[in-house]
Amino acid sequence: IDFGFTEVPLEEKVKKVKGVFDSVAGNYDLMNDVMSMGIHRIWKRHTIELSGIRPGNVVLDLAGGTGDLTKAFAKRVGKTGKVVLADINESMVRVGRDRLTDEGIIGNVNYTITNAEALTFPDNTFDLVTIAFGLRNVTHKDKALAEIYRVLKPGGQLMVLEFSKVSQPLLAKAYDFYSFSILPKMGKLIANDEASYQYLAESIRMHPDQETLKQMMLTAGFDKAEYLNMSEGIVALHRGWKY
Ligand code: SAM
Repeated sequence: IDFGFTEVPLEEKVKKVKGVFDSVAGNYDLMNDVMSMGIHRIWKRHTIELSGIRPGNVVLDLAGGTGDLTKAFAKRVGKTGKVVLADINESMVRVGRDRLTDEGIIGNVNYTITNAEALTFPDNTFDLVTIAFGLRNVTHKDKALAEIYRVLKPGGQLMVLEFSKVSQPLLAKAYDFYSFSILPKMGKLIANDEASYQYLAESIRMHPDQETLKQMMLTAGFDKAEYLNMSEGIVALHRGWKY
């Protein structure tokens, strides 16, 4: 099936991504639950459990958006630890900061507007960097991965949770139909925003598959990289270590 996809030129991509997340910020949490039928919570919980994060650790939740992972890590690192939520989009960070503050998550969380391609943190700062459903929006992924490696402490870990390539052919077909035909219509119906959800489907299709992303992590400097598929590869969790 031809879904009429056309690639967005790079310089336009940054603007487009900004527009998308400005537009979805207010409805983001609701839409996440509706579109994934709540399953994004399971993918995130699995990531948190595998992170091995402990009290006192320092975590960077990159492209942290409305703060799902930040919230979970803030509880785990405790008063002696720190979580930094960094995102390029002010609207998303504002929604996240308000939500977490309302829920009493305060004291060990910092919020910052940052481009993943040019991190403002010193070398060897974080025990863990996470980027959940964010990397596919980043224009120069190689730059972002190299920056993440730089800010990780030796022994630190990167976790990339992202949509990936579905391995099972029949499921892949059904998933394509869902992404390109149903999802944008749901976006229109619930959030009155068809274009942003069309972008979502396109960005998932363009994102590097499991092996390619693993290779990109090694090329960016990671000393070890591996991944595991979740939900037949609808999502993959890549992990990279700095020795
Ligand atoms: N991590 C959150 C989650 O899992 O719910 C939010 C994911 S949301 C789909 C993607 C986020 O990536 C948006 O908040 C967007 O602003 C952010 N983003 C896009 N490009 C970015 C960049 N170059 N640097 C940092 N954040 C970026």
